[in-house]
Amino acid sequence: MEGDFNPLETIEADVVIVGGGPAGCTCALYTARADLKTVILDKNPSVGALAITHQIANYPGVSSEMSGDALLTLMREQAVEYGTDYRRAQVFGIDVNGDWKTVYTPEGTFKARALVLASGAMGRPASFKGEADFLGRGVSYCATCDGAFYRDREVAVVGINKEAIEEAQVLTKFASKVHWITTNDPKQDDLHAMSLIDQTNVKHWSKTRLMEIQGTDAGVTGVTLKSRMKDAEEKLSVDGVFVYMSGSKPITDFIGDQVGLKEDGGVVVDDFMATTSEGVWAIGDIRNTPFKQAVVAASDGCIAAMSIDRFLNSRKAIRVDWVHN
Ligand SMILES: Cc1cc2nc3c(=O)[nH]c(=O)nc-3n(C[C@H](O)[C@H](O)[C@H](O)COP(=O)(O)OP(=O)(O)OC[C@H]3O[C@@H](n4cnc5c(N)ncnc54)[C@H](O)[C@@H]3O)c2cc1C
Repeated sequence: MEGDFNPLETIEADVVIVGGGPAGCTCALYTARADLKTVILDKNPSVGALAITHQIANYPGVSSEMSGDALLTLMREQAVEYGTDYRRAQVFGIDVNGDWKTVYTPEGTFKARALVLASGAMGRPASFKGEADFLGRGVSYCATCDGAFYRDREVAVVGINKEAIEEAQVLTKFASKVHWITTNDPKQDDLHAMSLIDQTNVKHWSKTRLMEIQGTDAGVTGVTLKSRMKDAEEKLSVDGVFVYMSGSKPITDFIGDQVGLKEDGGVVVDDFMATTSEGVWAIGDIRNTPFKQAVVAASDGCIAAMSIDRFLNSRKAIRVDWVHN
């Protein structure tokens, strides 16, 4: 069930899970089944690693023809059947101090006795010149979070994946002009891309590469672009740059230094998937494990859920989730 809610309201739950991939959905399936009020927050169910997997031939018990998206839909539906409250929202911050953990999204604030980090590893290191320098000062990865800052201003959106197209659509509601920069052309039968290009305040820069993001101490002032059809680079004045490129790096930008991270960027956990901060667990690719597989992520979710059940109920032994007939 994707709930409607008032952004000014604070929603309380036993367990809040950030990320609805195989790790998050499996964890929710177990915690919801253990009668714990469980909320999953996911920024976009079609951009995680499993969602973009064309065919998942090695997940035990499912057809080798099945797509990752179809398997993820099954997992999500099962978690929801057991009572999980699944919501689409991008988490931009957390506060892990105290017994109640707080999770911030543009759609509202959530409080939980147990927080699970399951946002995967589909982040990428900043790679455009100027991107890291102006992050948070005009460079953003979340139009839903930051779009309203750019009312009546010009912005650039870089990338051609589904997330880029959806986020550019969000920005058309605020910005006076959205410059959509793609190195290739979108396919003619991509209806979402075509509908974006049709918007009156969108300019599509086709076959064009972002070379550099420029700015001052006050933030971004423009970008340098290079079209494949022109010899010279061009400068464009914009106040914001939204970057949506694929890559692999644990998504921990919303965590800050509130839980321990390894040198490789993965979250540190113990055998129960508990992080260095009490009441916070981390599962799946966000741990940057050497073997990133859907079945491993699901297994992490199960371990964390049973550990959470024990933590919240102060049980001595882990409850076994099966019965003899
Ligand atoms: C191209 C490709 C092919 C693969 N093929 C296989 C395969 O054949 N077999 C196999 O077993 N594994 C495969 N994998 C690996 C497998 O998909 C991953 O190991 C698994 O999906 C990890 O699960 P996860 O739940 O940790 O993360 P993900 O599946 O990445 O899910 C993370 C979720 O978190 C959400 N999220 C991220 N940031 C936020 C935020 N700030 N707020 C809210 N939500 C957020 C995302 O929207 C996403 O839905 C493949 C991976 C890739 C990239």
